[in-house]
Amino acid sequence: MNCIFCKIINKEIPSYTVYEDEIVKVFLDINPDSNGHLLIIPKKHILDISEMDNNTWKSILEITKKMKILLEEKLHIDGLTLIQNNGIVQEVKHFHLHLKPYYKEAQALLPIEDVYEKIKEHE
Ligand code: 5GP
Ligand code: ZN
Repeated sequence: MNCIFCKIINKEIPSYTVYEDEIVKVFLDINPDSNGHLLIIPKKHILDISEMDNNTWKSILEITKKMKILLEEKLHIDGLTLIQNNGIVQEVKHFHLHLKPYYKEAQALLPIEDVYEKIKEHE
């Protein structure tokens, strides 16, 4: 299947991955609206909200809460908006939840590598 997000899951296309487990993957949006703009996707190919099953949705929501804490701790975000597009407003036809951070003070967009360096888990 010619799905860009399946290719990211299979590591055929690189991504700045922040978190992953058997069910979901979280990575930085390549064209961010703000610093730390994340996408949470299911590892199985699900088109949109109509195809989403309750178990996968539950995992995505649990990880959303964890990622909010991560963004607060690592990037000091002041707000977070969740967006999930379907139909003509959905560009990539593999379910994804956008996590878009907001900041009290306007911030210039940093290079994605710099955001990744701040956000990734340090060992
Ligand atoms: P949509 O409009 O489908 O909700 O948004 C798709 C999002 O996927 C866009 O914000 C776009 O920047 C992001 N995107 C598209 N292709 C890639 C890619 O190859 N890598 C990453 N990290 N993000 C992508
Ligand atoms: Zn896919």
